[in-house]
Amino acid sequence: MATQDRFVEWLGDLAQTMAESQEHLTELDSAIGDADHGSNMARGTAAVAELLDGEFPDTASLLKKAGMTLVSTVGGASGPLYGTFFIRLAGPLAGKSDVSAAELGAALRAGVDGVLQRGKAEPGDKTMYDAWAPALAAYDEAVTGGSDLGPALGAAAKAAAEGRDATGPLVARKGRASYLGERSAGHIDPGAASTTLLLESAARTLR
Ligand code: ADP
Ligand code: MG
Ligand code: MG
Repeated sequence: MATQDRFVEWLGDLAQTMAESQEHLTELDSAIGDADHGSNMARGTAAVAELLDGEFPDTASLLKKAGMTLVSTVGGASGPLYGTFFIRLAGPLAGKSDVSAAELGAALRAGVDGVLQRGKAEPGDKTMYDAWAPALAAYDEAVTGGSDLGPALGAAAKAAAEGRDATGPLVARKGRASYLGERSAGHIDPGAASTTLLLESAARTLR
């Protein structure tokens, strides 16, 4: 069971993680994009961290506000995608003070469905969805096997990292990288890398 304090911890850790990873994400995006993914994520998550001193009636309202903040501060392709993820993540958690592993699973599914509806990516398009999809499957499998939310998130993060690495050889079919066609192959997708960081951060903080 994760309480609101844990989610506050997660969002704080996420801002720190994105600040530390800014250069790396920008390097990835400079190879197949416009070299702004690191600054986009660092700016957006820093704005979310600024919310954390405020009072929120429940976890869902915190996550929803975090999503709206990402939409308004990140811009680009990733702002609406991550913003939608957090806004949808909040939905199934409405009114809950303690979040169980199964409840978080339903919330993650809603969040990833939001990413899909927004971005219309398919598996293998070389996007963040290539990290989200295996992560979600690994999370569900872990919970079905009896894992609590922390270890299930650990399994999800590991699967996301494998999905991220598998984007390397792919030719991008969505987003800016798709403009490069075949030349996008041979580089890891920046959004799949930031999704992996987000899940690793969740695995460190939610339990
Ligand atoms: P921009 O491309 O507008 O500069 P960012 O650099 O912040 O935005 O984010 C780029 C990332 O967004 C890509 O690496 C990819 O993972 C993700 N992305 C782009 N388009 C889509 C899409 N249609 N569906 C899912 N993810 C996408
Ligand atoms: Mg970019
Ligand atoms: Mg951009």
